[in-house]
Amino acid sequence: MLRASQNLPERVQELRERIAAAAARSGRTASSVTLLAVSKAQPAERVCAAAAQGVRDFGESYLDEALGKLAALEDLPLTWHFVGRMQANKTRPVAERFAWVHGVDRLRIAERLSAQRPFHAPALNICIQVNLAGEASKGGVPPAELPALAAQVAALPRLRLRGLMCIPPEETEPARQRQWFAKLRRLEEQLNAGGAGLDTLSMGMSEDFESAILEGASIVRIGTALFGQRPAKA
Ligand SMILES: *Cc1c(COP(=O)(O)O)cnc(C)c1O
Repeated sequence: MLRASQNLPERVQELRERIAAAAARSGRTASSVTLLAVSKAQPAERVCAAAAQGVRDFGESYLDEALGKLAALEDLPLTWHFVGRMQANKTRPVAERFAWVHGVDRLRIAERLSAQRPFHAPALNICIQVNLAGEASKGGVPPAELPALAAQVAALPRLRLRGLMCIPPEETEPARQRQWFAKLRRLEEQLNAGGAGLDTLSMGMSEDFESAILEGASIVRIGTALFGQRPAKA
């Protein structure tokens, strides 16, 4: 049984080095890539331990579990990202408590998030999820429908459209991993050529984040490589 918290400082350090090396290979600085620690299914103490190593951005997927953790850790200066699939009837707590949402893939969800974002909070940062390979098991807008959705989301008053997110098919070959990430980058470039002003590519997880960085990732979402295997979800 892996006791990830025992060596969390070493894991954070190693990840930072790998992120910096990949960023350097793509001609960028390490600070241009944000390490988003995906803490779903991890207890609040693990989040604290990572925060003690200077990690500031955390991602959660399961709303009920996340809300307990956010409440327990509200005194820490952390930025919370919702990275899970979103149900239309559960958008309010996300709009109220999170700073970023990475999985927006339909207008109805975006409209609710905008309407429910508290007026005193800054605009909610949004990444639109794109389903690059047309996988039925995954969320995301088909690439052909992306331009229309991006324009609609960008027009909503309490949201700030920051960029695109993907969970591509699993590939073990780095060259094949990179093809998917390059696809997402090109979609963003096309939107920006039309004036979208996007600055974020949320792509790359534990098994492929270096390939993602080489294709321009600005946020890598890393769970197991940081915290170890997730405990089985009840
Ligand atoms: C769980 C999850 C991750 C982290 O995956 P790892 O393989 O554990 O790094 C990243 N992004 C999303 C959307 C997730 O649901």
